[in-house]
Amino acid sequence: MATRTAMVILKTPVEIEQMRRAGVLAAEALREVVRAVRPGVTGTQLNAIAERYLRARGGTPSFLGYRGFPASICISVNDEVVHGIPDGMPLPDGALVSLDLGAVVDGFHGDVAVTVPVGQVEPRLQRLVAVTREGLYHAIEVARPGKRLGDVGAAVQQHVEAAGLSVVRDFAGHGIGRSLHEEPQIPNFGEPGTGTVLRDGMTLAIEPMVNLGTYEVVMDGDGWTVRTKDGQPSAHCEHTVAVTADGAMVLTAIPDGVI
Ligand code: MG
Repeated sequence: MATRTAMVILKTPVEIEQMRRAGVLAAEALREVVRAVRPGVTGTQLNAIAERYLRARGGTPSFLGYRGFPASICISVNDEVVHGIPDGMPLPDGALVSLDLGAVVDGFHGDVAVTVPVGQVEPRLQRLVAVTREGLYHAIEVARPGKRLGDVGAAVQQHVEAAGLSVVRDFAGHGIGRSLHEEPQIPNFGEPGTGTVLRDGMTLAIEPMVNLGTYEVVMDGDGWTVRTKDGQPSAHCEHTVAVTADGAMVLTAIPDGVI
């Protein structure tokens, strides 16, 4: 059984293996979506690919209906940071698109995201994506028992800011398990040595959101889409991980994975 420590729900090794099944399915569905990204494809089409893939393999989309979210994936283009709603607009050549997807298998969630170029993108955008991904892997590297959430956030922040980019403050990663969002929140900035101590059995969705310009964001009129305040591009990526005595185990890792 899961045990509850404060508000953080620790998972047993058996539960972590169950979560891996959800994580792997989510990552496979995301890989399928990324293979379909090209100039002219629509968010609606990509959403359908994800939903079909998940359901054909016994999964359920985590996001569909979550607090009223109307789709199975979030698609955030260019200055959209996260939580964009798929629509019928063709993706333009040269855009950056963040694709975020969750799967439920046997009651557990897996959550994974990646930002990819649509066609040819400018070098500064390629670098934005690379630095975001590196920030995620730095965070995963420090996510082990005894470290603190501030260490995780600082790992992202220091890497991103050293590259002259900024981390979004208003949105964060999160605990994950039988609920898509559990405690704790996982900011992508912080002071080393501060915050909640990480423990064996914590399961976390770590998801840096990195902006080319200011870290400030605004909420779109649709009540979901988060945009950069200055209209400059943003990138986002995410893995679901389990904190174990051996370090962070990435539950959304697959062969030929896209993140
Ligand atoms: Mg997430």
